[in-house]
Amino acid sequence: MYDEDDLLPISALQHLAFCERQWALIHLEGAWAENRLTVEGHHLHDRAHRPETESRRDLRIARGLRLRSLRLGLSGIADVVEFHRIGNDSTAAGVSLSEVTGLWQPRPVEYKRGRPKLGPYDEIQLCAQALCLEEMLGISIPAGDLFYGEPRQRSEVVFSPDLREKTESLTARLHELTLSGKTPLARYEKKCDSCSLYELCLPKGLGRTHTVADYLFEAISQHEGKEP
Ligand code: SF4
Repeated sequence: MYDEDDLLPISALQHLAFCERQWALIHLEGAWAENRLTVEGHHLHDRAHRPETESRRDLRIARGLRLRSLRLGLSGIADVVEFHRIGNDSTAAGVSLSEVTGLWQPRPVEYKRGRPKLGPYDEIQLCAQALCLEEMLGISIPAGDLFYGEPRQRSEVVFSPDLREKTESLTARLHELTLSGKTPLARYEKKCDSCSLYELCLPKGLGRTHTVADYLFEAISQHEGKEP
């Protein structure tokens, strides 16, 4: 079990799943390439992260719900958690909600600007939210949804044993890398061409050095005729 002070952001998992160096540049070095997509993504998230609830007949919607898992050492904010009424005698797992009768099954929903990605980065982030909710509520959550802006579509994510295992092992790696405090070396791969940090990372020119600071030091030293 982790202490409150050692909790790491759930959002880091999607960066880590994509590339360990990208994760380090953002979360260890504080680098961030703000572009049109990330700005629009922030607006989408700002709206979803305002704490509020909404009620419909058999549905309750909680926005901006704080999440936490001491077992995994993760914390974050869920865009949306839907609670679907499942009735009193359903075999599905549900929780009681204040001021309404029956049992309600939670279902995390994450909003993403743009298209579904090639790898399961968003699925891992959503699964981490579900694992936090399961620990907080003491029930099992079978599935959630990812909502993409281009094209506007909602797709179900089943929290299979394989996805849970991937999410938990990536979380362990997240803690390991955070403790090490080291930025992995750049290594050019095909995915670099679609990376928002390409210009900062310079995967073809920065392969010998660990950090952007190292790279700048090396570049200045070479300019001045010195070895770094
Ligand atoms: S450019 Fe490539 S190596 Fe660099 S952070 Fe992005 S994906 Fe990782």
